[in-house]
Amino acid sequence: MKKEVRRAVIAGNWKMNMTPSEAKCAVERTAELTKGLDGCDVILCVPFVDIQTAVAASEGTSVMIGAQNVHFAEKGAFTGEVSAKMLLECGAKYVIIGHSERRQYFGETDETVNKRTKAALASGLKVILCLGEVLEQRQAGITSEIVSMQTKLDLAGVTADEMANVIIAYEPVWAIGTGLTATPDQAEEVCALIRETLADLYGEDVAEATTIQYGGSMNDGNAAELLSKTNVDGGLIGGASLVPEKFLKIVEAAQA
Ligand code: PEP
Repeated sequence: MKKEVRRAVIAGNWKMNMTPSEAKCAVERTAELTKGLDGCDVILCVPFVDIQTAVAASEGTSVMIGAQNVHFAEKGAFTGEVSAKMLLECGAKYVIIGHSERRQYFGETDETVNKRTKAALASGLKVILCLGEVLEQRQAGITSEIVSMQTKLDLAGVTADEMANVIIAYEPVWAIGTGLTATPDQAEEVCALIRETLADLYGEDVAEATTIQYGGSMNDGNAAELLSKTNVDGGLIGGASLVPEKFLKIVEAAQA
């Protein structure tokens, strides 16, 4: 299998933006603008409180709704957390796990990312697994080691069959929300390395079938070049996903 037959996936990460009423307008507008652009899947990962409104607003359209985190326990004394079953019942199909902001500000580790990933997959959610190096690691020349290690630790115990429900988002931490973008060659190099790591773990077929996104200040100006790279199958987009007209340009760039 080659890039041409892997499904491109453009996902928005709204982070802590949009009230439910704002979410309704933004989902409706995104769905209206991207209607008929069937060359990629379009997902919006919204705050927990927006999920039901966003799902209702996306009904009958091709936009799919995801969450931005999930706990690994089925239920219990975990104040402030949300289970996979809760997300599914609200209509979420996807969940972002391991975003660098969760790792940086909320103590998320490869161990908890792995537990959340396994719980989400076991419940039937599809996972967008985020990983990537921080600036000091890139400057020290250890990006490959870090990304390969994260891939192995975050996916420990995930089966080859379950990989059909996993998207990997390579997000160099230094490029997220900073306006700094990895060059297309830098993105390609690391996405290819992640695919090689998947091949070691699961074999060539699974590696070639897995969608690998790039994320980090992707926007309407740089998306086409990033998405033209062999191993870059889509994008995880923060800031630019908040403006449907800008997000549309990225979805259009993924149609090729
Ligand atoms: C993100 O939140 O995953 C992200 C890539 O953000 P931004 O596009 O704003 O850099």
